[in-house]
Amino acid sequence: MKCELCKKTIAELFLKKIKGTYVKDAKGKLHSICFECQKLTKKDVLEKLNAPVA
Ligand SMILES: [Zn+2]
Repeated sequence: MKCELCKKTIAELFLKKIKGTYVKDAKGKLHSICFECQKLTKKDVLEKLNAPVA
C-alpha cells in the first residue's frame, strides 16, 4: 500500500487497516493517504491528486 500523494509506503495494521486514511473523491473512488499527508484537508489532497472534488 502506497500513499498516492507522496508515494511512500504506508504501514499496514491488522485487518487491512492502514496507518493513514482513505479519501473518497466526488466519483466515489478511494485514494490511500499516509499518516503525514492526512494532515492536509480532504480538498487539498484531492486537488493535489487531480481528483474530482465533491
Ligand atoms: Zn503521503
